[in-house]
Amino acid sequence: MSNTRFGAIAESGKRTHRKVEETGKRSQLFGQQVFNEEKMLQFLTKEALEKVKSAIFQGTKIDRKIADQVAEGMKAWALSMGATHYTHWFQPLTGSTAEKHDAFFDILPDGRAMEKFGGAQLVQQEPDASSFPSGGIRNTFEARGYTAWDPTSPAFIYKTTLCIPTIFVAYTGEALDNKAPLLRALHAIDEAATSVAQYFDKNVRKVYATLGWEQEYFLIDKALAKSRLDLVMTGRTLVGNAAAKGQQLDDHYFGVIPSRALSFMSDLEKQCTKLGIPVKTRHNEVAPNQFELAPVFEEANLSVDHNLLLMDVMEEIADQHNFTVLFHEKPFAGVNGSGKHNNWSLATDTGVNLLSPGSTPMKNLQFLTFFVNTIKAVDTYEELLRSSIASASNDYRLGANEAPPAILSIFIGKQLSDVLDELEGVSQGKLSPQEKTELKLNVVGKIPEILLDNTDRNRTSPFAFTGNKFEMRGVGAKTNCAKPMTILNTIVAKQLSDFKKEVDVLIDKKNLKKDEAVFNVLREYIKTSKRIRFDGDGYGIEWQDEARKRKLSNNKNTPEALQVLTSKNSIALFKEMDVLSEVELKAHQEVELDAYILHVQIEGRVLSEMVYNHIIPAAVNYQNSLLTNVQGLKEIYGAVYNKVAEGQLNILEQIGEHLAEIKKQTDEMTAARRRANGLSTINKKAQAYCNDVRPFFETIREQSDKLEKLVSDEVWPFTKYRELLFAK
Ligand code: ADP
Ligand code: MG
Repeated sequence: MSNTRFGAIAESGKRTHRKVEETGKRSQLFGQQVFNEEKMLQFLTKEALEKVKSAIFQGTKIDRKIADQVAEGMKAWALSMGATHYTHWFQPLTGSTAEKHDAFFDILPDGRAMEKFGGAQLVQQEPDASSFPSGGIRNTFEARGYTAWDPTSPAFIYKTTLCIPTIFVAYTGEALDNKAPLLRALHAIDEAATSVAQYFDKNVRKVYATLGWEQEYFLIDKALAKSRLDLVMTGRTLVGNAAAKGQQLDDHYFGVIPSRALSFMSDLEKQCTKLGIPVKTRHNEVAPNQFELAPVFEEANLSVDHNLLLMDVMEEIADQHNFTVLFHEKPFAGVNGSGKHNNWSLATDTGVNLLSPGSTPMKNLQFLTFFVNTIKAVDTYEELLRSSIASASNDYRLGANEAPPAILSIFIGKQLSDVLDELEGVSQGKLSPQEKTELKLNVVGKIPEILLDNTDRNRTSPFAFTGNKFEMRGVGAKTNCAKPMTILNTIVAKQLSDFKKEVDVLIDKKNLKKDEAVFNVLREYIKTSKRIRFDGDGYGIEWQDEARKRKLSNNKNTPEALQVLTSKNSIALFKEMDVLSEVELKAHQEVELDAYILHVQIEGRVLSEMVYNHIIPAAVNYQNSLLTNVQGLKEIYGAVYNKVAEGQLNILEQIGEHLAEIKKQTDEMTAARRRANGLSTINKKAQAYCNDVRPFFETIREQSDKLEKLVSDEVWPFTKYRELLFAK
């Protein structure tokens, strides 16, 4: 194995950066490989174009005749671009994306060959998907799944394949993917937010959730990454002694991007731009060889698709540049892990950001309305929102003093807190003219100014208001953003629809003016959602105690965090908002728990293999050379040999102790795995993997890292942290 390590180091040392040609302006590349409006104008009939546009903007259905026309146009465009295949591109519940390619090519009954792709192929496909996770929904023979075209996310060509974004549902209607629930949640937020936005502007017809993610990742030399069994199998290092230098010098953060990484980024950005992903910023992150990429924000469904596509493209381009890209949330102990901040807001079809104040009192009251309702929603459903970012890999990052804790809270900064405090004092019922003027001028009226110089930032908060959007920071680097976006938009939709009802009652029954009614309801929300607001240090131990007093949930691991998905309240919420049925919730929970078990199980197996087949043999190997040496010394020095060989004997002793301990721990872990596997329910199994198996990973690692420190560098089998993290 150490041969593999030294071979990899030699190979990585020979790398030079690949020259990437910058050909013209990025704006000219933008969307070249996307079947966007420009291509539709060229390849679709006017009628088909109008129908697709109304499907996108009004959610109308596309009939079969039009689907045939669209398919015809898409095919013509795809063939003109050199595509040979098409695929329904979808997001199964675990894993990121899936696709099954079919050739356009077909043979007619008379034996002639032709390129075939019609409405039927565009609209619906039945992937042979029996092995995708379904949480039992598709157990019966009849309940097969099919993929269905999502016209709101444009088709694109990746390599030589026309990719058609689709949802994946069972024939009985249940969602088997992450996109179908997201689309339902986006529909719910549109309805709820539009009717609230109409209090302030009658012209609003539609509200979009917007999402701008920031993707963090590590770039590791391909040969070095491939030389590590754990990185290959689990995406993270299960053992590895910290390098003498980590991130403490902060010399990587926002530093000059190394040239190999820069070539990769240029190539990546060009490809992304062609695929219509509006990538914009790139920089070094905190840990060595860690980077970040962020696009311009987009409508949430499209943005989610773009993030998934980005991750696929990144893997491909990284490979071409002899890198392995790591999306795992915690690939290396002792240095920062990777997250994916989700910046979220709501925008109207009239071009207004609802979380941005405006120039009139009404606009500011509108801002406050959406601002306070979001706070209230997160307060009511904090545990649910936490569940949306739970995964085996993110468990290693959340609360690890580099990422927000598992407790959900909201940071809004001192000045906005002061505004909310003032609003708490608003009178019940009707407001006097003086009070209205005071509110207009000195409270609500001040908001735009406040936000203009709102430099108040808190990096430790999991949900922070950042001037014109909220930023959700606990999302893992690997996570499909559809999950947090589905839950966030669902809970805010529910909150807004409750708000609408309460305001309407005050207007209709209590004869309050609209603004008075809004102030009255917001006042109560501000009072009752106070516990979720926290501006202090989210990493501190004091916050854990304080949060407990506030009765905020603190679900530190995935099995715990997922429980809330099937609580009575959650089932009622998702049913009312028409996002997920009880059957779907249970199925999705089961799939997530199952994924958790599998991940921990695989890590456990890989770790056993590393210990038995690599670590112990390496330590024994070194032991043997020490023994030979000591024996030689004994021959020469006779009785006093142990004085001469004192150091070696001491090392031998230490190695012996660690060997015994690592073997013992590994055997116990294996026994714990066996016990966990024998448990009858998926919940018990997940909990056993979490509480009985996983803790061994730490103790085994400790022993391995001590051995790594003792054993000769020449025989150590695994590429070391300094080699992985500091190769450029
Ligand atoms: P910062 O000052 O924190 O760097 P930016 O305004 O540059 O913030 O935005 C950071 C991220 O937030 C970007 O990925 C961007 O796309 C996203 N973003 C900005 N505005 C919105 C919005 N209205 N809705 C959703 N995401 C947004
Ligand atoms: Mg950010």
